[in-house]
Amino acid sequence: MQILLANPRGFCAGVDRAIDIVELALQVSPPPVYVRREIVHNRHVVEALRAKGAHFVDELDEVPDDATVIFSAHGVSPAVRQEARRRGLRVIDATCPLVTKVHLEAIRYAREGYSIVLVGHADHDEVVGTMGEAPERMFLIAHPEDVDRLRVPDPDKVAYLTQTTLSVDDTRDCIEALRQRFPKIVGPSRDDICYATQNRQAAVKTVAGEVDVLLVIGAANSSNANRLVEVSRGTGTPSHLIADKHDIDPRWLESARRVGITAGASTPEFLVSDVVEQIKLMRPAAVREVHVVEEDVRFGLPRELEEMARRSGKTLPSRSAAGAVSVD
Ligand code: SF4
Repeated sequence: MQILLANPRGFCAGVDRAIDIVELALQVSPPPVYVRREIVHNRHVVEALRAKGAHFVDELDEVPDDATVIFSAHGVSPAVRQEARRRGLRVIDATCPLVTKVHLEAIRYAREGYSIVLVGHADHDEVVGTMGEAPERMFLIAHPEDVDRLRVPDPDKVAYLTQTTLSVDDTRDCIEALRQRFPKIVGPSRDDICYATQNRQAAVKTVAGEVDVLLVIGAANSSNANRLVEVSRGTGTPSHLIADKHDIDPRWLESARRVGITAGASTPEFLVSDVVEQIKLMRPAAVREVHVVEEDVRFGLPRELEEMARRSGKTLPSRSAAGAVSVD
């Protein structure tokens, strides 16, 4: 059997940064350190950070006064920021800069008087946060069929935005339907679907075309991992979302000569290694990396974390130093 590993896969720059932020906050912030919602959608990541001392909560009312609270990579609405300010909490914002870009676009379009159609999935933390920037002006759609149901005050003054982790192909269909209904619609100059989502989908498409079955490692509530399954299935390849090696059903692999593996943007690489080793225990297999796109994106740390480190007399590592997450 051959195992084909899609590359790129796994952690994106936003997730990598968010995890570093929690680890560093645990070293430079006065305790306790709270994280609102899952810092990224992966149970293994959350458990590892919890073991190091981070407290995870759903809402700010579970955070005691005078604590540090970290906002997750998915971003928060202005109402959450205001509440944290009112409470006097120390805030560190781990929102991915590419999510912040979408928030800023929403603010700008709202200020210019546009109705804003957000293409995304209701109830995802990122969508809740973005919708909160201009709730009275925003309309949410998930499918091209939803476009007919839209009722906007001025059809000539409509803008669109998208969640960062959507399927590139499905989103194109939504935007096309929007353009047909609102010919004057405007949108961001560069796609909101982030580079990591696009690259992982391109890689999974390539690998799916070469294998008999494909496994996507990721959490059930991870938007980008679910989209990877859909993209792979769209090529006609049987595809399964698994949280880790324990979810592998041996029947999927019985008649497979080639197995593809990829991982969502919140999935740590050790889970990929675990899955590879588990498959090798079932059947002898050779492993091949399928490189589709090279990535070298890396984001800086938030200023408030640097300020906290300075006050505690510590120096944060440079973000260009890959993997360095301990302070001097
Ligand atoms: S998937 Fe994209 S938008 Fe989301 S955290 Fe990663 S880089 Fe940022």
